[in-house]
Amino acid sequence: MPAFVICGPTAVGKGTIVRQLIARDPKVWLSVSATTRTPREGERDGVDYYFVTPEAFDDMVDEGNMLEWATVHGVHKYGTPRAAVDRAMAEGKKVILEVDLAGARQVRASMPDAYQIFLSPPSFDDLVDRLEMRGTEGPSERKRRLETARVELAAADEFDSIVINDDVARATDEILSIMTQIK
Ligand code: 5GP
Repeated sequence: MPAFVICGPTAVGKGTIVRQLIARDPKVWLSVSATTRTPREGERDGVDYYFVTPEAFDDMVDEGNMLEWATVHGVHKYGTPRAAVDRAMAEGKKVILEVDLAGARQVRASMPDAYQIFLSPPSFDDLVDRLEMRGTEGPSERKRRLETARVELAAADEFDSIVINDDVARATDEILSIMTQIK
């Protein structure tokens, strides 16, 4: 079974959908990324992310331990530690990589078999509302994320499937059904 990439703009609901996928199918395994950003309230090291220093992150890259990595929203680095993904693939898990557009493009080059899903909002305005409602970023960070989102939305056609998150349960069903069809 190939790995599955899930990409989509800020606040589209990737985290919620991935949690639903895990709850619905015990074979789904989410790669825990490393990041140089600081934890948000309630985030746990080793569960939501591996929160690492910029130096530790660069060492992982230099040692070839990242499957892909990118600077996201022009600020912090995020990457997928390679060893855990290889292990989960060998165990026959349904591996999910939640990455940004640059990461998805790297995976397309280094793991061409991976099936790439783009999670899209019903509209751009919907994204603006969701980001505001989430309330985890201030106005300047929101503005930066929405600029990135425009670029990401314009690249949706590069993906094997576009899933619209108009309803969490429906979008989750659609992704589970894609995962069942792709062998
Ligand atoms: P946040 O800071 O909101 O948790 O994540 C910001 C962005 O980083 C998200 O759009 C997410 O897709 C991206 N991201 C998270 N983990 C990775 C990763 O391992 N690699 C790449 N390239 N992007 C990631």
